[in-house]
Amino acid sequence: MSSLELRGVAVRYGDATALAKADLVVEDGEFFTLVGPSGCGKTTTLRTIAGFEEPTEGEVLFDGVPMGGVPPEARDVGVVFQQYALFPHMSVAENVAYGLRFAEDPPDEESRVAELLDLVGLSGFEERDPGALSGGQQQRVALARALAPEPELLLLDEPMSALDARLRERLRREVRRIQEELGVTTVYVTHDQAEALAVSDRVAVMSEGRVEQVGTPEAVYREPATRFVAEFVGENNVFAGEARDGRVAVEGTEFAVAGAEGPTTFCVRPEAMRVGAAENRVTGTVEYAEFLGESVRVGLSWRGRDLVVRTDTVPEGEELTVGFAPEDAVVVE
Ligand code: ATP
Repeated sequence: MSSLELRGVAVRYGDATALAKADLVVEDGEFFTLVGPSGCGKTTTLRTIAGFEEPTEGEVLFDGVPMGGVPPEARDVGVVFQQYALFPHMSVAENVAYGLRFAEDPPDEESRVAELLDLVGLSGFEERDPGALSGGQQQRVALARALAPEPELLLLDEPMSALDARLRERLRREVRRIQEELGVTTVYVTHDQAEALAVSDRVAVMSEGRVEQVGTPEAVYREPATRFVAEFVGENNVFAGEARDGRVAVEGTEFAVAGAEGPTTFCVRPEAMRVGAAENRVTGTVEYAEFLGESVRVGLSWRGRDLVVRTDTVPEGEELTVGFAPEDAVVVE
């Protein structure tokens, strides 16, 4: 049973702020993902939780207990990094057994290794060399090794980024299945927003060392709090203007947006911009139309802005008129 809390945690390197005063709570058994572009502070956050880094300010707590000064090996965490980091001169079984060396109450090694390899779908691979495994298999071994001592907390730093897309999808489902089976509290780091939405109970969207929003995948997608989240998670059309009586003036056109008053930034998802909509219509020049199978992604240029809409068919003319319902506009900070 393990919950995790970051209380006002900041990490600075000289003048550079890798993480600015983050407050996060990860519940027991949760699959929690840190997502954001390169350099936003995800790895720093994970390393601080693991104890490889001490916060410049604030504290990390496990089950309410401050971890200041507690070294990584005493924190009861399992970590899997981007690089496979298996020991090349050890067999698969020896690599997994290595994970048991810090176990407080070491179980029967052979049966525990067999159990873990079964869990990650690698039964029968005991005597193989890591070098004779595919990237995906190596990451499964790394996961088995991290889980071997039954850690309270599992930390995964872009464990699939070196794998091809199809394998990544398969493995992420498997990681999720294993995590649910064991009920281990997990913090996962990825720059891939689609992956974050697909696997997580909740996500923290990060930008430039700050946590922009924490919420369920549905919440950050449907109700982004900031413009950054709106544009980073999925695609969005962002408009900014001055609002009066629920109408926002943008480039001389007025849009009805529920509840808008004063300076307003709002966004509309490509799938909410509909051909034939009765309200909030704009006519743009078709810049491109990409046939994606289940839909067509159309790029429009409207008064010098790029818009993106989803349609059922490739538009025929050079121009396309789309609109959106006022309730599909989401006001952001
Ligand atoms: P990526 O996805 O590229 O790994 P990230 O979101 O994990 O990025 P971090 O690695 O946490 O980002 O880095 C956050 C910021 O802190 C970056 O600007 C980075 O250059 C800086 N940084 C990280 N470690 C150090 C260090 N040891 N010394 C100085 N600056 C650092």
